[in-house]
Amino acid sequence: AKQHGKNQLRFYTPEISLQLRERLELELGLARAIDREQLRLYYQPQIDRGGSRIAGAEALLRWRDQSGRMVSPNVFIPLAEKTGQIHSIGLWVIEEACRQLHAWHRQGLRPGKVAINISALQLGAEHPSLADLLAGALQNYGLLPENLELEITETALLNDPGRAGEQLRQLAESGFSLAIDDFGTGYSSLAMLHSLPLDKLKIDRFFVDRLGNDDADLAIVKATIVMAKELGLMTLAEGVETREQLRMLQNLGCDQFQGHLLGRPMSADAFGSLLQVAAAA
Ligand code: C2E
Ligand code: CA
Ligand code: CA
Ligand code: CA
Repeated sequence: AKQHGKNQLRFYTPEISLQLRERLELELGLARAIDREQLRLYYQPQIDRGGSRIAGAEALLRWRDQSGRMVSPNVFIPLAEKTGQIHSIGLWVIEEACRQLHAWHRQGLRPGKVAINISALQLGAEHPSLADLLAGALQNYGLLPENLELEITETALLNDPGRAGEQLRQLAESGFSLAIDDFGTGYSSLAMLHSLPLDKLKIDRFFVDRLGNDDADLAIVKATIVMAKELGLMTLAEGVETREQLRMLQNLGCDQFQGHLLGRPMSADAFGSLLQVAAAA
């Protein structure tokens, strides 16, 4: 034990304890953020085939911490999944998206579907089930399941396919649209996806990024779109940044597009203004 103790000392280097402290601070900060309403939803437009009509928006979390610094969801979502805070955050996202949809409807705007990101852990929770949480929020704001789309990553389905499949069937029966997120980055097969009640497949930015320079990636995107159509799934390409990418994806028969070329994630007010302009056009 003595020798071990000596070796272990090496692990308690200042850098490690600094990392640990940073993690703890982040975790505490996140708890405060939930309490003090430092979280926001931004909205990124999703555009229809023709390249101009707004079909809806994806709701993306933003956290501005006490010092005014923006913390990326890529940092705090994985942390929240580790600490279990994802459940209260996920609930807040559902509630806030519904509140905002209700507000837009009251202003006479037609935002289309708002897509929210669902973590694997939310899909696994039994009591209350995700379907029950959603039903409660819809009722509070006089909304219908058709107003929402749920984005679920491939990897979420692979953790516990049985349980996830059961939950997805429950959600689909309730009338929610279901989209598979980040398609192509995990290990799911189209055959597996076919056994689930999905509506849409989101082609990951990774492939869209490389469309112009890599023939193999072009082939993957092409095949994905063809097969998705065969399975009756809509396709949406993520991370569209150039006109060239948009044109190629349109030619391949992709149904919807999302990316900086078509609109960055923006505040609810900014998205509301965009809808107003679109309605007037
Ligand atoms: P995601 O679901 O794949 O979301 C798309 C990400 O791509 C967003 O990053 C978005 O801002 C970014 N993006 C969109 N268009 C472009 C583009 O043209 N170019 C580039 N380079 N990036 C683009 P963001 O907002 O930082 O979110 C990162 C991830 O955090 C999301 O990836 C999602 O997995 C997660 N996330 C965000 N909000 C939530 C949430 O409410 N709940 C859960 N569970 N996860 C969330
Ligand atoms: Ca997403
Ligand atoms: Ca994605
Ligand atoms: Ca992603």
